[in-house]
Order: sequence, then C-alpha cells, then structure tokens
Amino acid sequence: MATLLEGFPRVPLAHLPTPLERLARLGAALGTEVWIKRDDCTGLATGGNKTRKLEYLIGDALGRDADAVITYGAIQSNHARQTAAACARVGLECHLILVRSVHWDHPEYETSGNVLLDDLLGAHLHKCAPAEAAKTAEDLTGELSRAGKTVYVIPAGGSNAIGALGYVQCARELLNQTTALGLRPELLVHATSSGGTQAGLIVGTTELTDDCRVLGINVYDSDHAAIEQRVHNLTEDIRGLSSELSALKFSVAIDHDHLGDGYGQPTEDTIAGIRQLAELHGIVTDPVYSGKALGALVSLIRDGRIDATGDVVFIHTGGVAVQSVYGAAFARPTVRKV
Ligand SMILES: *Cc1c(COP(=O)(O)O)cnc(C)c1O
Repeated sequence: MATLLEGFPRVPLAHLPTPLERLARLGAALGTEVWIKRDDCTGLATGGNKTRKLEYLIGDALGRDADAVITYGAIQSNHARQTAAACARVGLECHLILVRSVHWDHPEYETSGNVLLDDLLGAHLHKCAPAEAAKTAEDLTGELSRAGKTVYVIPAGGSNAIGALGYVQCARELLNQTTALGLRPELLVHATSSGGTQAGLIVGTTELTDDCRVLGINVYDSDHAAIEQRVHNLTEDIRGLSSELSALKFSVAIDHDHLGDGYGQPTEDTIAGIRQLAELHGIVTDPVYSGKALGALVSLIRDGRIDATGDVVFIHTGGVAVQSVYGAAFARPTVRKV
C-alpha cells in the first residue's frame, strides 16, 4: 500500500498526524473502551475530514496545471469550505456550487457558519436549487474555459478514488498510532455521506489487518441501497488504482437507523450525544455529521447492538463550523439520557 499512496501527488494541507485520544469518561459511562481520532483537528480553516482528501485532489489539480476549481455541496457544506481554504492556500481560483438541499428554516443558514467562511476565504459562491446544479456547472465551465482557464472539477464531498486516498492514508496513520499504544482497534465508527471517507478506511484497514471493521453511520441518504452502492463502487475504484489491492475482499457496513428526518436534521440522540461528549471531554461535534454519528454510536452501545470487546475508535470528521447555524436545535427541550 505504501506504493499505492506514493504513486499520487500530494499537497500538504493538514496538521498530521491528528491526535488519537482516549475517552475514559464516556467509555466508563458506556462500559466500553472508546477512543477518538481527532480529524476535526486537521487545521484547514477549522478542519475536518475533507482536508485529507484535498491533499490528493489539489495535488492532482496542480499536476494538471489547473487554474480554477469547481466543486459542489449543500449550502453549509464543510467540503466546500475546506476546498475554498485549500484553493486559497495554493493560489487556485475557487468556485462553489452550493445547492439548497436542506430544509433548515433559519435565516443564519444562508449567511453564517461555513457560508461566511467560504466568502472570507475568497471563493466565488453560486447558490442554486438542486435541479439547477448541473446547468450552473455547465455555464460556469464554459465561461471559465472561454477565459482560457483550465478547470478542475472536484465531485461533491471530494469523493472519488483520488480523494479517498486521503482516508487510505488515515487508516495507515491510525493503525500506526494504535500499534504504538498497544491497542486492539476492533471497530471504527464515523459519519458517512458521499462515501470517500468510508471507502478509504475500508481499503486502508483491510490492507493492514484482518480484524478491524469500519461502520459508517448514514447521516445523509434515505436511499439505503444507493449509499451502500456508492461506498462499494468507491472501494472498487480505489482497487483499480493498484494491482496490490486486487486480491483483497472489501465489505461495506452501514447503519441506517439514525438518520431521523434526513440530512441536516439532528435527532434527539444527536443532541444528547453532542452534549454528552462536550460535557465529559470538552470536545464539540456537529449536528449534521459528527454529532449524529456519535449519538448513533452511544445509542448502539447502550442498546447492546455493538458487541465490542476490543477498542472502539470514533472518527471525529469535523463539522463544527456549522454550530452557530443550528442554535435552534440546541434550544429545544431534549431527553437527557445520561
Ligand atoms: C463530508 C463529511 C462527512 C462524510 O464524509 P464522506 O466522505 O462524504 O462520506 C462526515 N463528517 C463531516 C463533518 C463531513 O463534512
């Protein structure tokens, strides 16, 4: 696998390795050893998981002499914000097609959080309805090409085989850390949506160990088969990058029971999980991704649906830049289960 990763240009954007910390108090409350991999600390304009993908994607863009980057996301996309920061870092023009796909009826949704940061980071924002995204991209690509610019398009979430290499690399980094600490990581749990994080982790862990599973928490897609297929396809796309991977067997495991009312809609478990981790450990997670996955993990362990005798590692994928936009979610009365 070392050669798989070395075969692709990579621009350093992240603070690595991110810390791996023991959650002693949460673990005691749950009766399980729980660790947290702090990918919220990757450091790029408030950090998050897209930064590792962007190290490879921006590396690829520069290798192709790109002048401008176009990418997609929801209005409050963390991926869009990290792409804006990465482009600023290397001097690429950045265009964000931000789609109104989430119903969160608060005025801050369109002006605060990640959108505010996108603007500060010098990106060009193109907000539109989901049905207009393809046309917006087409018009924009035409306009940039006519101006003589080479355009590099990054898919939503940075999830293609190149981007997912960032999480193959993360699996390697994490397993180095667990080996050094004498841990036996049995289960990695994280929020999954566009699938690149999970696909990279599946490939990276399978390459290095036989007994570490990856469980994605579906925070995004009400079409369960679609998200499973997406992650599966990405693992196969990564396999296609290197003959070293040809004999490996990748298996995709996704929990669909904690999506609640859908993408961008926190559940009671989400809010309770966010409060619990914040109060016990001083670590903040977000209501769209990391906190939703954390709330799911807490409820799965509590209900005996995760039978972990070894160490569980929760991957904090970031997202906290969105917090102020979701003030109303925290103001609601919530059932506290601690
Ligand atoms: C994008 C994102 C995820 C999901 O990662 P994918 O690779 O898109 O599945 C999880 N958490 C946060 C905070 C994100 O921004």
